[in-house]
Amino acid sequence: MQILYTTNDVRTHVAKAKKAGKLIGFVPTMGYLHRGHISLVEESKRHTGYQVMSIFVNRIQFNDANDFNNYPKDLERDFDLARDAGVDLVFVPDEKEMYRNNLTFVDVDVLTKNLCGAHRPGHFRGVFTVVSKLFNIVQPDAAVFGQKDIQQAVSIEKMTADLDFPVRIILAPTVREEDGLAMSSRNKHLNPDERIRALAISRALRKAEEMLSSDERSAAAITAEMTRIIEESSPTKIDYISIVRYGDLDFIDTISEKSVIAAAVFYGATRLIDNMIVETDAGGARCVY
Ligand code: AMP
Repeated sequence: MQILYTTNDVRTHVAKAKKAGKLIGFVPTMGYLHRGHISLVEESKRHTGYQVMSIFVNRIQFNDANDFNNYPKDLERDFDLARDAGVDLVFVPDEKEMYRNNLTFVDVDVLTKNLCGAHRPGHFRGVFTVVSKLFNIVQPDAAVFGQKDIQQAVSIEKMTADLDFPVRIILAPTVREEDGLAMSSRNKHLNPDERIRALAISRALRKAEEMLSSDERSAAAITAEMTRIIEESSPTKIDYISIVRYGDLDFIDTISEKSVIAAAVFYGATRLIDNMIVETDAGGARCVY
């Protein structure tokens, strides 16, 4: 596995792989890898023959300086996990390599107005800027993003089309701990008590699924029940519990088309997000979470 630090080196190695006839798969991350990240590499391997992963804690997407300063890091462990997963090239730029002038930004309208976009000012602009730069540096054929960050994935799909990046965007399902907690690098910050209380989020999603299968379609009724379950766990703060249309991530009153049920909740200083995609048809509702 190549560990590379500069744009030039990445371009040289990727060009060589392309010349050898390989399709390039790409998984951008902020490191402190877990099974969720590895599942993205596995998905990428199903579509492409040369795997690139980036590890970069992107300061400009953090709206909270403490969150950035405390973001967990263990590069040596990340390299071992990436190597074991079959990654061919890891790109680990520093801030100087990524941001020379810091004058140019990419943003996506409409899709970022609700959910995390409403609660983390500047966050998505930072994400889209770094992903655009990484697409230009790596020039992958496909890039894989996790459902866990659904607003990010849906917006990046639109950004890729709008800016004509020749990259296929692939969405991979959320990987969970056995007890239901969605894997996240930030879970490391939860103390044992918060870790147990945080299970209320996935429990609330399961309750929503149950209500959908009993033909409940009212967003207000479902979010009220989810709020009750999450409030019982004494969260430090609920940012949102929302139901939006999948297509434009706008709020809906009734679940009658492909939708997203999403929540963002703080336990202590740790902000956790989770969601479920709901597909409805004559046969009922199918939930992926
Ligand atoms: P991060 O390192 O948190 O910025 O995440 C990098 C990529 O991994 C993003 O596409 C995330 O959506 C994805 N990801 C994070 N957690 C999970 C998870 N539990 N399951 C699947 N993908 C995930």
